[in-house]
Amino acid sequence: MIIGSGPAGYTAAIYAARAGLKPVLYTGGQPGGQLTITNDVENFPGYPDGINGPQMMIDLQKQAERFGTKIHYGVVTSVDFSGYPHKIIVDEKQELIAETVIVATGAMAKYLGIPSEEKFANRGVSACAVCDGYFYRGKEVAVVGAGDSAAEESTYLSKLCSKVHLFVRRDEMRASKIMQQRVINTPNIEIHWNTETEEILGDDNGVNGVRIFNNKTGIRKDIPIQGFFLAIGHKPNTDIFKGYLDMDETGYIKVLPGSTKTNIEGVFAVGDAADKVYRQAITAAGTGCMGALDAEKFLVAKEMELAH
Ligand code: NDP
Repeated sequence: MIIGSGPAGYTAAIYAARAGLKPVLYTGGQPGGQLTITNDVENFPGYPDGINGPQMMIDLQKQAERFGTKIHYGVVTSVDFSGYPHKIIVDEKQELIAETVIVATGAMAKYLGIPSEEKFANRGVSACAVCDGYFYRGKEVAVVGAGDSAAEESTYLSKLCSKVHLFVRRDEMRASKIMQQRVINTPNIEIHWNTETEEILGDDNGVNGVRIFNNKTGIRKDIPIQGFFLAIGHKPNTDIFKGYLDMDETGYIKVLPGSTKTNIEGVFAVGDAADKVYRQAITAAGTGCMGALDAEKFLVAKEMELAH
């Protein structure tokens, strides 16, 4: 059973199906995952001209189905990993049994929750500088956040863009000292302290500015920008596994280093649900492959155990 339909889930499905493991994949509430809310993917190896995110996910699904993966549009709402085989509840009603489970539920970028964010999604608003920064070469952009992601994304964007405005809501950053120093030492990054985003401004062509608010002075200001990047953290989609799978304090599933093994026998975690560092489509796909190989090895060992 594979839970999740991003690059990790589909890659696990392709490998598992080709190994004859008869995988069943449940897509979750956002079939195709985070790449379905991206336009062009230019950094996935093998596509010299780039590929449209939703198209890539359709192709991955077809490839998984070609080898016999059974794909279901359903949401796994709870699990019971207290015994073996594992129990999975779909859409709060259907109980399924699986000999191995590959968790590929991904993560979601956090958003501020202002209406203009949604309005300009993919038209100037992004939650991934590495994915979308290239489209803003030579332009002025803004980043919101104050952790390591915000520091890393502003530094990354400063190499591509003419200027980066970094909006920090307090008078200090949470990012590690070394990463903060890098931001402070970069001449084309301007840090706006005590600054909150009130509204992203734009028209039919996309984002053209942002209205900020200084929570100390009360002063509002409009700044012209073309790109608005969120870097206020991600949330892994792992709540349903709490109490069974070991996780870090932010909910990322812990795996045995160099593998996809969780603390529960026969349950493997792949992709962003177990990766708070890299979070790329290609790394997710890579661990998806590892998950299928680990599952296969587990099933072979289990079969031999039963035969004796
Ligand atoms: P964090 O949770 O560490 O930081 C989120 C930041 O966003 C905080 O500074 C927070 O502000 C700010 N924030 C949250 N909500 C809002 C809001 N509504 N408006 C404005 N600002 C907001 O997330 P990160 O993604 O930065 O990092 C996650 C983990 O990944 C960390 O452990 C980090 O160290 C790690 N990481 C490591 C990297 C590396 O080492 N290369 C790179 C990237 C991440 P406030 O401080 O005021 O709460």
